[in-house]
Amino acid sequence: MAERQERPRRLVVASGNAHKVGELRAMLAVVPGLVVLGQRELGDPPSIEESAHTFEGNAGLKAEGIAAWLRERGEAGDTVVLADDSGVSVDALDGGPGVRSARFAGEHASDEGNNAKLVAELRARGLERSPGHYTCVLALVRVDGGPWADLGGPVRTFEGRWDVELRVDRRGTGGFGYDPHAWLPDGRTVAELPAADKAAQSHRGQATRGLLAWLSAG
Ligand code: IMP
Repeated sequence: MAERQERPRRLVVASGNAHKVGELRAMLAVVPGLVVLGQRELGDPPSIEESAHTFEGNAGLKAEGIAAWLRERGEAGDTVVLADDSGVSVDALDGGPGVRSARFAGEHASDEGNNAKLVAELRARGLERSPGHYTCVLALVRVDGGPWADLGGPVRTFEGRWDVELRVDRRGTGGFGYDPHAWLPDGRTVAELPAADKAAQSHRGQATRGLLAWLSAG
């Protein structure tokens, strides 16, 4: 049985989203000796269908799918795969788009298309703004699919949530996705935050700190 006896030395981020990979890579740089790779650095990864109805479910599907692909390619079993499933939930949209955030304006939608859809949906309700939040679930699995010793199962998850206000107004050029429309109590949008400030507050930053604490406790 594969257990977490020692810290992983190699971590593959199971995402084709260069922004996510960049944010995670920057935050994981504090782990001594950990080599962080994007999945595309290891070849042509399969596309994993995100068929679950929860962030946790989809993060697990992506991590296990990419781990299976790496296993078939003979990658070392103790390499770990980290998947991120994330999105924005808007109160006025009954919590949508949620797990469908990347596909809000349709399959293969662009960030701009999704943002235009967000603005249209708020305006269709006569609103200029709505409370909401970002969610990030990180799922960690070993390439050999073995269970984590402290869990008894193969998928270890870490979660973060960040309350923001979604507005039709937009500002800023940083970040990605819905960030130009995600306003903070200090009057800035997430797209106006320097990367380190976003990492310090964000849903992804919170989830990553959970992962880092768990890794260092190992
Ligand atoms: P996923 O790839 O299915 O997890 O979809 C993630 C989607 O949620 C992204 O394409 C963005 O639209 C949105 N999202 C997730 N995290 C962020 C963030 O940090 N800022 C802005 N949008 C985000």
